[in-house]
Amino acid sequence: MSDLRTDLEATRAQAGKRLAAAATADAVEGLRHELLGRSGTLTALLRGLGGVSAEERPALGQLANQVRRELEAVIEDRLAALRGADLEARLADEALDMSAPGRPVRVGHLHPVLTTLRDLREIFHAYGFEVFEGPEIETEEYNFELLNIPPDHPARDLWDTLYVAEPGSIEAGEPRPAADGTILRTHTSPVQVRAMQALDAPIRVLTPGRCYRYEAVDASHAFEFFQVEGLVIDCDTSLADLKGLLEEVARALYGREVATRFRPGYYPFTEPSVAFDIGCLVCGGSGCPACRRSGWMTILGAGMVHPNVLRAGGFDPDEYQGYAFGMGPDRMTMLRHGIGDIRLFFSADLRFVTQFAEGR
Ligand SMILES: [Zn+2]
Repeated sequence: MSDLRTDLEATRAQAGKRLAAAATADAVEGLRHELLGRSGTLTALLRGLGGVSAEERPALGQLANQVRRELEAVIEDRLAALRGADLEARLADEALDMSAPGRPVRVGHLHPVLTTLRDLREIFHAYGFEVFEGPEIETEEYNFELLNIPPDHPARDLWDTLYVAEPGSIEAGEPRPAADGTILRTHTSPVQVRAMQALDAPIRVLTPGRCYRYEAVDASHAFEFFQVEGLVIDCDTSLADLKGLLEEVARALYGREVATRFRPGYYPFTEPSVAFDIGCLVCGGSGCPACRRSGWMTILGAGMVHPNVLRAGGFDPDEYQGYAFGMGPDRMTMLRHGIGDIRLFFSADLRFVTQFAEGR
């Protein structure tokens, strides 16, 4: 028996054991290289065939080829087994357990001020009003001029209005208002002009949205707040229509017969202007600290649209009239829920907000 035959048998036995023990596909590939590669063990043995006698060569050649085929087959089997096991393990790892209970989903809810806004929208919808929205970043022209508020009017005081800075002026250490008059709107009234410019008469719109003023923040003042304004433009409207509408709305909003009154008021964009009061919801009219002992609470301002504003909106004051009114949903919400501090609305304190999760 030649040495070559012994070596082939030994290689066959050892390689078989090592392949069976290989734990990963990489290890098997390593062994394939070590055994069958260009300078592998078996390859080297096959080269030795050249040195054996002519009688022995056919049998040894046959054996060598048989060993090679066997090892190749073992390697393929082993690889298939390892890859199968790998897949099994991954499938087991990533399996979905359809019977497991779901994780609870946290559902949000409306902020109390938004609930008030939605209620207002619903009430006014019944009277034919549609929502019309405008930009929060406005121009001085829309926020003031077109609303009959000339440049020297106190409402335009630099200290009340939040001006957008001229580009580069902050970096230069000399902040100044943008030359193009870009500001944060101080009220939702500019939307009235935008609505008039965009729509044909008759107009009945509600304009809810955020407004901004440079205010010292305290329990009843915030530098951001909501307003809702209403605007009606038609060729046959009067202060009587406005009064009738507001009385109906006050009843719908507070859910009972509330006392109401009109007082003379002043706004640059309406003429005449009125303040609309309801009987104090706290004391019922007898006088208390909430109503400053007057028995009344002012819930909105209103009036007939000023001819200059009608013109700015593209309507001829000789042909059309209109009325407008504005409310503060923040204050209305505070009255509704007995909330004593407006800052709570903007504090993002969940202990406050989640109180309004249910029941409205
Ligand atoms: Zn009162």
